[in-house]
Amino acid sequence: MSFTAAIIGRPNVGKSTFFNRLVGKRLAIVSDTPGVTRDRREGNARVADLEFRIVDTAGFEDARDGELASRIQQQTERAVGAADVALFLIDARAGLTPIDEVLAAVLRRSAVPVILIANKCEGRAGQPGLLEAFRLGLGEPIPFSAAHGEGMGDLYDALREIADREPVADVPADDSGSDVEGTNGVTDAGDAGAPLQLAVVGRPNVGKSTLVNRLIGDERLVTGPEAGITRDAISIDWLHDGRRLRLIDTAGLRRRARINDALEELSVQDTLRAIRFAHVVAVVVDAVQGIEKQDLTIARMIAEEGRAPLLVANKWDLVADKDAIRRHLLEQAEASLPQLRGLRLVPLSALTGRGVERLLPAAVAVYDVWNSQIATSPLNRWLAVMLERHPPPAVEGRRLRLRYVTQTRSRPPTFVLFANRPAAIPESYIRYLANGLREAFDLDGIPLRLTLRGSR
Ligand code: GDP
Ligand code: GDP
Repeated sequence: MSFTAAIIGRPNVGKSTFFNRLVGKRLAIVSDTPGVTRDRREGNARVADLEFRIVDTAGFEDARDGELASRIQQQTERAVGAADVALFLIDARAGLTPIDEVLAAVLRRSAVPVILIANKCEGRAGQPGLLEAFRLGLGEPIPFSAAHGEGMGDLYDALREIADREPVADVPADDSGSDVEGTNGVTDAGDAGAPLQLAVVGRPNVGKSTLVNRLIGDERLVTGPEAGITRDAISIDWLHDGRRLRLIDTAGLRRRARINDALEELSVQDTLRAIRFAHVVAVVVDAVQGIEKQDLTIARMIAEEGRAPLLVANKWDLVADKDAIRRHLLEQAEASLPQLRGLRLVPLSALTGRGVERLLPAAVAVYDVWNSQIATSPLNRWLAVMLERHPPPAVEGRRLRLRYVTQTRSRPPTFVLFANRPAAIPESYIRYLANGLREAFDLDGIPLRLTLRGSR
């Protein structure tokens, strides 16, 4: 398994030094004479056991001021378009410059994953620049020193994730195929976009097959691609309100529909697999029976895997007192699944079809929340309010200080909070902050990640 990484960065952040560090000085074609325009350098990089192609794009130093931004933009787009991952270097000693911001904007728009590297971080001088780098909205920066070879471990972890990433195409698609990948390897992040991947899970007999059947239409289920019989997982794509949706892992449901399944047990492995491939997971429960232990287990797996859940209360046609049952289900969820506070409930009857039309809009809504990006300044204004309303306790006579919060990624929204003594912050205070985040930024019904980091 090999991939191509593009080094992106303004002049002087240390790209050549970085390139040499990864490729090995002997192999690099060094032409660092000032004024000499380097076009592109390529080499085989190695970080521990990972080997990949690395491309250093340089050469816009000679651009005239007026055209600088657009040239940077074009070059970066081209470089990134041909790569599987962008290694974006900034100079932590110099701090962010307008060119860094231009580059970051281009990278945020692209569909290629970005590893943000705060170079020149050896010693203390890089500390402010490192924090500032969070502001770029490209995730957590890796403190690095190309000159000293520091930060290779973190870089390895980030690259490993890229190398291990299962391409979407690994979920066997139906014969409509996937047009997400452009011919030149550029992933289309445009409006047609990558599909929202929806999985339907739940205990046996809650009505999953009936629901899937309803969703995609009986005809397709019966006459669908034979693939459904032979493959382990099959997916079905369609458009809903201009959004691409993909129902994944339906083969198990199809098979199940054919055999007498009264004794079938919930396969944790199958469920986990469906959850991992999905963005949104609909947990189907039997509204009459209520939420059972196995349903909670599934919901907790979804929270742990960081996916966006929906609670589908099926067989709603059998429910007499609908208000009471609705309240009961929500209370059950609230009490047993605090990590999914605000979980969305979709009551429906797969059998009669009633309410089924509400499932996809709910899936799109929770998907959007799961994708939320919250800018750093409103986050820190929010933090200030929270701290004032209810200051963190003093522990052993010393005050805890929470200095800064930033969102490092989405899907699910993930936040890092910098504190003077992160380990001393009580669980109850973290809950106060997490619940506050949900409320202030409408992050209901999805798992959140909130981690604490030390800072002086
Ligand atoms: P490029 O223009 O982005 O290719 O940058 P270079 O690799 O030519 O480096 C620019 C300057 O930054 C040179 O003087 C390097 O020695 C210096 N430099 C590169 N990496 C580091 C680092 O990790 N720490 C420090 N302090 N300086 C570095
Ligand atoms: P699965 O094991 O979760 O795939 O469940 P099935 O789709 O096979 O459904 C199990 C049983 O529940 C079948 O007898 C269905 O007809 C019945 N069923 C499914 N959905 C509903 C519903 O909305 N209302 C009622 N009353 N029965 C349903």
